Amino acid sequence: MKDWADSADRRPKKTLKDIQAEVDRMIRGYQEGYFSPLGMIARFAEELGELAREVHHRFGEKPKKADEPEGSLEMELGDLFFVLVSFANAQGIDLAEAYEAVMHKYRTRDSRRWTPVDGQGGGR
Ligand SMILES: [Mg+2]
Repeated sequence: MKDWADSADRRPKKTLKDIQAEVDRMIRGYQEGYFSPLGMIARFAEELGELAREVHHRFGEKPKKADEPEGSLEMELGDLFFVLVSFANAQGIDLAEAYEAVMHKYRTRDSRRWTPVDGQGGGR
């Protein structure tokens, strides 16, 4: 495990609510504030593209050039997560509630879609 992750493990765990509040404080600390919804979707697409580029280099058909530095899946996921949190904040969406709602949907509507591992009831 990476050093930053080890040090993070010794700190109190942040809830999604904590994370949303931290991102809100950071963004409101700048005069520009939140981007427009369309601007955030563009940022999301940018970061998704950066993650896709990294995945393609690692697992796909497009190797990096010899002089390109190794990227970080963790950092690209982190960038994507930050934009997701920003968008949720700007729209007044509680991500913990959104998570519970989507898990309920997967556990009900999609409960027979996948093959459960024996004795585990389909990942509940
Ligand atoms: Mg990025």
